[in-house]
Amino acid sequence: MAQLNDAFLQELKFKTDIEDVISTYVSLKKRGSTSIGLCPFHNEKTPSFTVYNDTQSFYCFGCGAGGDAVTFIKKIENLDYLDAVKLLAQRAGIQMPQEGFDDSLSKKRRRILEVNRESARFFYSNLISDNGKIGRDYFLNRGLSMHTIKRFGLGYAPDSWDALLKHLKSKGFGIGDMLDAGVIKISKNNRYYDTFKNRVMTPIIDVRGNVIAFGGRVLDDSKPKYVNTAETLVYKKTNELFALNLAKDSGQDSLILCEGYMDVIAMHQAGFTNAVAGCGTALTNEQVRLISRYAKEVVLAYDNDEAGQKALNKAITLFRQTDVKVKIPAFSGGKDPDEIIRKYGRDKFKGMLDGASNEIEFALLDLKKKFNLNTTQGKIDFLNGAIKILCNVSPIEQDLYLSRLSSELNVEKSSIKIQLEDYSRRNKKRRENKIYKSIIDDSMRQNQRISYENNVPVRQYKAEERIIGLLLNYPDCFKLCSGVDADKLSSQFIKKVYIEIISRLEKQLDIDIISFGPILTDTEMSRLSRIMANNSESKNAKKEFADCIDIINYEFSLKNSKTSANLSDDEYRKMFESK
Ligand SMILES: [Zn+2]
Repeated sequence: MAQLNDAFLQELKFKTDIEDVISTYVSLKKRGSTSIGLCPFHNEKTPSFTVYNDTQSFYCFGCGAGGDAVTFIKKIENLDYLDAVKLLAQRAGIQMPQEGFDDSLSKKRRRILEVNRESARFFYSNLISDNGKIGRDYFLNRGLSMHTIKRFGLGYAPDSWDALLKHLKSKGFGIGDMLDAGVIKISKNNRYYDTFKNRVMTPIIDVRGNVIAFGGRVLDDSKPKYVNTAETLVYKKTNELFALNLAKDSGQDSLILCEGYMDVIAMHQAGFTNAVAGCGTALTNEQVRLISRYAKEVVLAYDNDEAGQKALNKAITLFRQTDVKVKIPAFSGGKDPDEIIRKYGRDKFKGMLDGASNEIEFALLDLKKKFNLNTTQGKIDFLNGAIKILCNVSPIEQDLYLSRLSSELNVEKSSIKIQLEDYSRRNKKRRENKIYKSIIDDSMRQNQRISYENNVPVRQYKAEERIIGLLLNYPDCFKLCSGVDADKLSSQFIKKVYIEIISRLEKQLDIDIISFGPILTDTEMSRLSRIMANNSESKNAKKEFADCIDIINYEFSLKNSKTSANLSDDEYRKMFESK
């Protein structure tokens, strides 16, 4: 783990305002000395993400993410500790210390990115060379222009087991770096070989312009059709969106989400420069959050087949947990955007995008397919279903759809409305009960889990957390610390934080959350910020502190009084068996 010197961290602290840092990613609303906003780390519609100005920390009451400015940057930019510190230092205009810390992980990441960049160059220059004609023809046959090929940095991996390997060697890269980047592999009899062979290549580039991975496709029908870079230090496929680096600069506040790289490339060429795609996985929560950072609206341009429609429904469900508006175009005449654009051209495709339905319209259309609206029973069943869809939308929208349904089905608007209101009333009650129950379950589960994990009573656990919370807010309590011995603390995490606090106080150093960054993991940082968020004030800190110490001492003595004198026969026997 990186060890940065304290003076540097303190300077970083003085020149960094956590609210400032976070507000470039999250829109925050002031609320006294804290600010709140929608959490960027989980999907939510009501804000539970809180930034504490006093302690320069953040904590989300929804998902438990928390920490200081460094933790925030680490998480949101997907960086390691040192790179996150560097980014903040740059922002604050402070020089990083030259020595005294271990940055091997950052160096490794950088080398992987260099290997990737050089590999992308190699694939591209192959594609435009004589040897790459077969790859070039593949793309040209699919309707791509040379301009598009260059813009996406597409390439060709030659039909050879070691062409890239030799090339990278000649550029001075080591085998270890190539393995780390995933561009070569090692065989059973210990020979190194290129991961991509005789394939057309699509580099995956992150929003900072780094080549982080590759997707390789065969030129014929052989298997496997696609080979993609496995996960590496710089690439986690569930967190990335293909072409977001280009789409984020499209100047629009909507993104078009497609299924495949080729769809995205075809769409960009046709002028839809806000198209992106997942990287060969079903849509994930992380990708949904990424989209919500860049767009207010997403057009779900999924394939026109069964698998595509299934994926579409999953996507709609995921986006429902965010405030991103969803639009669903109805594609006809081709199985995916790439094919439709090639067959009918840009304008027809644009017409389909413009005519996209919103989530409600889509759900109603989908429902309609299931009933025969020429029969009375069909109409009744459809209306009952429609009411369930409409009960969650705003009154204005309800009114609009009711008018539409009324004229479409030739049923009085007022009677549909009465039924809708009746359903909404019953549904509200049901929902409230459900929410109430889940809150109670959650808090019970959390309490039980905590005490179970550590095998200590809840009150001891709470006392230990309270001690940390009090020390951070009222360092005066330190004078009482002779009263508690760190070894009596049941949790390793608390012990570690406690010892650090005491040693800092003894050296008369500040204790703030940024000083814990170098010694705690992300999960521990979250826990620490939760403790800070829940333990901010006390009417009589010293008295409370002393009480907590009593509890800890008492529980400790209780546990250790289990000596041979008061052990049960069984326990007594076990003591010998285990030795
Ligand atoms: Zn959260």
